[in-house]
Amino acid sequence: MEQDPGFIAAIEEAKQGLAEGGVPIGAALVSKDGKILGRGHNMRVQKGSAVLHAEMSALENSGRLPASAYEGATMYTTLSPCDMCTGACILYKVKRVVVGENVSFMGGEELLKNRGKEVIVLDNAECKELMANFMKEKPELWYVFVFVFVFGCCDARGCIGFLVLFMVIDTDAGCGTGMRISLSSFIRLAYVALNTLRIDNDSNREMGVLFVSM
Ligand SMILES: [Zn+2]
Repeated sequence: MEQDPGFIAAIEEAKQGLAEGGVPIGAALVSKDGKILGRGHNMRVQKGSAVLHAEMSALENSGRLPASAYEGATMYTTLSPCDMCTGACILYKVKRVVVGENVSFMGGEELLKNRGKEVIVLDNAECKELMANFMKEKPELWYVFVFVFVFGCCDARGCIGFLVLFMVIDTDAGCGTGMRISLSSFIRLAYVALNTLRIDNDSNREMGVLFVSM
């Protein structure tokens, strides 16, 4: 199955997405007689799109087809499909979903099975490597984060500084399922967040980073 033209196309699409500076997830929709109806990759970064995940791109690039074209079709995707893409596969009555890997992210596989879809997880090393490298090198594109810093200094007898850090973290693909983050990614995110906040006071910035590093 890893030699299926649809799966090979999905990996090629993921690599294309990476080369464009985007999220390396690819997909291909293949008809029951083996014809690639459409292929595509995640375009969230490239197009600033909220909906063009790899599977959605593949569906979009397949164009407007009659319902019969999706009968018995297979959606190949390099990463476990999120709830949106799971819903799209159910909506268009795709028969089978072949998933490259679900270690980096676990999406709606159970829902697909509950709706009678065949789900095959290949646990493909190349797909895992693509995502692992991407999450390591560009965590700011994958993880969604919010930092709130509160600095204060007030006490009747003098000044006591305090800092409160509140952080919400999620993935670009959906709500938290399968989220993993390394310490180095976490620290890099902290730097990105601090620069985003444009904290001008250098000592405050150092204090914030020190706190995050702990
Ligand atoms: Zn998706």
